[in-house]
Amino acid sequence: MNLGKIAVIQGDITQQKVDAIANAANTSLLGGGGVDGAIHRAAGPELLVECRQLKGCATGQAKITKGYNLPAKWVIHTVGPIWQGGNYQEDELLASCYRSCLAIAKQYEIRSIAFPAISTGVYGFPIERAARIAVSEVKKFLEGNASVEQVIFVCFGESAYNSYRAAINEILQAE
Ligand code: ADP
Repeated sequence: MNLGKIAVIQGDITQQKVDAIANAANTSLLGGGGVDGAIHRAAGPELLVECRQLKGCATGQAKITKGYNLPAKWVIHTVGPIWQGGNYQEDELLASCYRSCLAIAKQYEIRSIAFPAISTGVYGFPIERAARIAVSEVKKFLEGNASVEQVIFVCFGESAYNSYRAAINEILQAE
């Protein structure tokens, strides 16, 4: 599915040939399971060496490193909120992850960026709700910034893919 600058695919984010991939990291930035583990394995051990120098990252914020052995030149590490039922600023913190990553992308003149479904794995954020936040934050950013030319949502599996397609139909094609 491709709508101008935004695309949704099913696949593995570590394989994406884009300027930057976002990583759904944890506050330590020292690696973990899920997409974080996959990115560290594919990038190689130098990624962890650089991450150690960053001294962690707060929830909702983002920090950039090189991509090392990845096809992507950069990795933008962001820390999504842990879902606690929805009354602990989870929506706002997740939106902040996308905004923080995109602000760094702009700063580094990154033209193409791929996002995983931040917080929707171990952190338990409901996928439909997360997909709507992801799509609306990216839409808002692209409306105000011309530097980023392509944003790819990389879905790991069909149900995430279907949730993103629904969010796109709702948010982008409602106009
Ligand atoms: P979080 O702790 O932020 O929930 P997870 O890594 O557990 O992070 O999951 C985030 C999302 O990334 C989930 O939707 C999961 O299915 C997905 N995911 C896991 N591995 C990959 C991968 N290699 N490429 C893209 N997405 C992935």
